[in-house]
Amino acid sequence: MMTIRIGVSALVLATCLGAASAQDNQPWRDTSLDPAERARLAEAAMTDDERFNIIHGPMALQFGDRPNPLPDDAVPGAGYIPGVERLGIPSLRETDASLGITNPFGSRPGDTATAFPGGLAMGSTFNLALMHDIGGALGLEARSRGFNVLLGGGMNLVRDPRNGRNFEYLSEDPLLTGLMAAASVRGSQEAGVVTTVKHFSLNGQETNRHTFNAIIDPAEHRESDLLAFQIALEEGQPASIMCAYNLVNGHYACGNDELLNNVLRRDWNYQGWVLSDWGAVYDWRFAEYGLDQQSGQQLDDEVWFDAPLRAAVERGDIPHSRISEMVQRILYGIYSVGIDQEQPAPEVDLEAHGQLALEAARQGLVLLKNEGDLLPLTAQAQSIAVIGGRSNYGVLSGGGSSQVTPDGGFAAEVPIGGDGSMAGWRAERYFPGAPLDAIRARAGEAQVRFDPGQYPSSAASIASQADIAIVFVTSHAAEGFDQPDLTLPNGQDAIVAAAAAANPNTIVVLETGNPVAMPWIDEVGAVMAAWYPGQAGAQAITEVLFGDVNPSGHLPVTFPIEGQYLRIPLPGLGTVEGETVTVEYEEGSDVGYRWFARTGTPVRFPFGHGLSYTSFAYSDLQVTGGETLQVTFEVENTGDRAGADVPQVYLTDAAGHPLQRLVGFDRVVLEPGDSAEVSLTVDARLLAEFDSEANAWQIAGGEYGVAVAASAGEEPALTGTADVPAQTLEP
Ligand code: BGC
Repeated sequence: MMTIRIGVSALVLATCLGAASAQDNQPWRDTSLDPAERARLAEAAMTDDERFNIIHGPMALQFGDRPNPLPDDAVPGAGYIPGVERLGIPSLRETDASLGITNPFGSRPGDTATAFPGGLAMGSTFNLALMHDIGGALGLEARSRGFNVLLGGGMNLVRDPRNGRNFEYLSEDPLLTGLMAAASVRGSQEAGVVTTVKHFSLNGQETNRHTFNAIIDPAEHRESDLLAFQIALEEGQPASIMCAYNLVNGHYACGNDELLNNVLRRDWNYQGWVLSDWGAVYDWRFAEYGLDQQSGQQLDDEVWFDAPLRAAVERGDIPHSRISEMVQRILYGIYSVGIDQEQPAPEVDLEAHGQLALEAARQGLVLLKNEGDLLPLTAQAQSIAVIGGRSNYGVLSGGGSSQVTPDGGFAAEVPIGGDGSMAGWRAERYFPGAPLDAIRARAGEAQVRFDPGQYPSSAASIASQADIAIVFVTSHAAEGFDQPDLTLPNGQDAIVAAAAAANPNTIVVLETGNPVAMPWIDEVGAVMAAWYPGQAGAQAITEVLFGDVNPSGHLPVTFPIEGQYLRIPLPGLGTVEGETVTVEYEEGSDVGYRWFARTGTPVRFPFGHGLSYTSFAYSDLQVTGGETLQVTFEVENTGDRAGADVPQVYLTDAAGHPLQRLVGFDRVVLEPGDSAEVSLTVDARLLAEFDSEANAWQIAGGEYGVAVAASAGEEPALTGTADVPAQTLEP
């Protein structure tokens, strides 16, 4: 077992614990008390300076021309909030962590971490247990560096296939997203670190991300992005939630009374704290509108939650009780996870974490097309041409605050730059583990030749001389930038087309942060979406190509046909950074496959789609009604090799109203000939519509229809109905 321990100074622990002798007079340290009670007692013992110190803090980095001396107990990383040593309140040491523990600008020299696949790869696994374990690994790797808050949990719904941060998010569906995010949060918090979910809400694009105004019908918001967050909060109990940069219906997300005070607090009774995104606070009044903590304060024009907020309290413009409440919410988060307790740096089993990264890469690979069973490759493939995608160096990763530095550093870095404040950070970064090397090692006697994929004629030439051509294509995505359309950059579509014209046995491996158009789809034999597959990507891709692993990933997002999706051109495309852009989410709650189904718009590959080297059949559907639906059916592996299936249950009719909503899924691993029973209870909110006037979910009484299907686009394998009575549910 390989282990690593990265320094947590004695000072960090001392600050965490405070003076133990004080404990007797400090009842809030009694862990048998309820966290809310502990928070109330501790807050009452604080001075006003201590209160104001805990509600704002800097980015824990030196950058730009703003000096930022860090206290000794800070760990360089995304954020820092000072604790109160005398009261045993720990400092908050925050790290980005959606895809691994980050090391922004190499601020911790030489520190590398397990680099998990991108969010859409994880979403493609539909595997809640795996997400939970990855969350646990993130928690331990964070703690081993002295961090106690993960800014993980990226979970915005994929509303736009061009959003540059989709690679950090999980899916276009609220149920899948909410459950997957919750599983990861639970894993991390069980490992002893506070976790956020983010970015609340509708951070649906990166173009002018600080100034775009997301317009949505509030009821439809409840049924989509907000439902995803609601499920994640209920099931995962994250101690904190990060509000987004953008505006929602005319108000900044971090100063949004409706979202923060009404939805999150009043209706959902969320007990944890709201922390801002970095550079998302514009006024001390954001405290009044529900924000509890100003993060990354040197990115804002003012440290609003210090002098300006103190002055507002003194003027009587905001009651002092609101400051107490903000502090109590932060303390509640701290106590509910227990980060005030002694936390020796854990031993980290990097080998085990590497295995999790490999498993996620394997299960996240989606085999989109496999004409005539071209895959898996057999010994008959005596010569293989590998083309493009810098596959001679490594696998692509996504950029921005989620960028992880893998063991050994990057295999290649290609600066891209661009316009705006994030341009300097924008570079293609490849993780080591070259697919070309892995293919060569696995291909044995077969001849493997390589072409970098710069010129169609040269790609065609080596493709024409081989039995099989494997073309790697990449599309880089990064925080701060969107893809303007779904084409592959740098003329790669022409490379694929040339290879396919030269060799019908052409296989395309996509390393992309988003769906891509694939104008050559009918000319190639097979296509595999590897997303950004993380540190074990080369191995996972090779295993699936050669059939050592049976693919089981399913699309968590629709692959549209170019030109046949919403909002073309991209809202704000070409505007100068800082301009206000209005984005109308006219699809409302019908995000992704639901909009395609509602409008009858054809797609390239539907949500839920994913091929296997075996086959599955469904039977014996039973649907029981009542307050909600219970759905039971059998899945059988009807092929001749072991494999995993992701059966999906869709609601197709709600009391006479036709629709399509994912209401349940499972991931079932089966030996050939074996079968298993899948049994699901539907979250009743998925049967309902949100009624803004009544501020409640309304279920119409009547007959409800469900379908069991292999994807949102396929004919259902089984259908059934059951009655549900009219009901009103709490918001
Ligand atoms: C991102 C957040 C991130 C924060 C701290 C922001 O730019 O939007 O997701 O947690 O930076 O690095």
